[in-house]
Amino acid sequence: MTIFLKAQEISQYTIKTRRRLHQIPELAFQEFETAKFVIEQLKQMGFEVKEGVGGTGVVALFDSGRPGKTLMLRFDMDGLPVQEDTAHTFTSLCDGRMHACGHDGHMAVGLSLARLLRENPDEINGKVLFVFQPAEEIGQGAKAMIADGLFDFVPVDYALAVHLWAEKPFGWVAIPDGPVMGGSSDLVIDVTGKGGHAAKPDLTIDPLYIASQIIVALQSVVSRSISPSQSAVVSITQMEASDRRNIIANKARMAGTIRWFDNQTRELIEERIESIAKGIAASFGAEAEVLIRESTIPVNNQTYISNICRKKLEDMRVDIEELVVDSHYRTNLSEDFAYIVDRIPGAMLLIGAGQKVDGKIHPHHHPKFDIDEKAMTLAIAALFETIKALT
Ligand SMILES: [Zn+2]
Ligand SMILES: [Zn+2]
Repeated sequence: MTIFLKAQEISQYTIKTRRRLHQIPELAFQEFETAKFVIEQLKQMGFEVKEGVGGTGVVALFDSGRPGKTLMLRFDMDGLPVQEDTAHTFTSLCDGRMHACGHDGHMAVGLSLARLLRENPDEINGKVLFVFQPAEEIGQGAKAMIADGLFDFVPVDYALAVHLWAEKPFGWVAIPDGPVMGGSSDLVIDVTGKGGHAAKPDLTIDPLYIASQIIVALQSVVSRSISPSQSAVVSITQMEASDRRNIIANKARMAGTIRWFDNQTRELIEERIESIAKGIAASFGAEAEVLIRESTIPVNNQTYISNICRKKLEDMRVDIEELVVDSHYRTNLSEDFAYIVDRIPGAMLLIGAGQKVDGKIHPHHHPKFDIDEKAMTLAIAALFETIKALT
């Protein structure tokens, strides 16, 4: 029997697990009930579990008893501050919180895979380190687990992770070489002018007007400074100045996000933002201060691993006729699995999981977000087959 069919055999467990976790979404670093559930499941399967790694993180090791490589599998655990708006029977029981990114599905994939390995211990060699990570949505969980000794349990050779991907249908899997998800930085620009009465603008240096000029000029960073073959994002999403209609503020603050796929582009963007903001502010007699803080680095897939993964997926075509293996797709969305593959070679697979709610597929983080639960079975099989090949 193929691994996919074996994964399909336990799909009732996978779905039940996902739905239970869907009901108890918890925010970053608050995944207490979630971790408790994961720990109980792993213990029932006979795993020794290390809990409280990097906050609420959970780690468990599968040892085949045979020599081979050691693989780390990362599954994220956090939900989002979103009010669910679906009519599911298993809708979130927590007011204002929802698994609106599919991390409930990722944990179900992880636990099902752990179960499948326990039931089929002779299928692989080496070891598999299961990592259930907190706080992916705020980009802090992987760093916290690493700082708390994630790499000290056992020497790890490779790392794998999956993300269920709502914008693509069941059967689609993206596994490109190189960056699959973008790096991101938070951007804050403070423009300091001279406040005063709104009816006397000539006596002020209006920082809001200057900030608006800066926003317009920042559009040139991607369209005029970055090569058309590269992709990047510079978005200003927040602005604050005076809170009165008749007062021109002393200072205007704008904030936003930057996304990139390589360091050269990142440096170029940062330089351009700095010189545009400072130059425009100076030309009006104001001052601009630019603060850029790294949020996440890109997730880089290692070619050796993505190659094996794509080959194994092709073999799964016998069971999945909808299969489309995409080796070019990448996205500006970020993932903090990046900090794991920054340390050891690895790869992230995006697994098509589009599921309509009220006649439409809704994006990640939307109150009507949902996943096609079949995609979890595909994810389990893809990971299992890749582990088999790599260990
Ligand atoms: Zn998310
Ligand atoms: Zn996510």
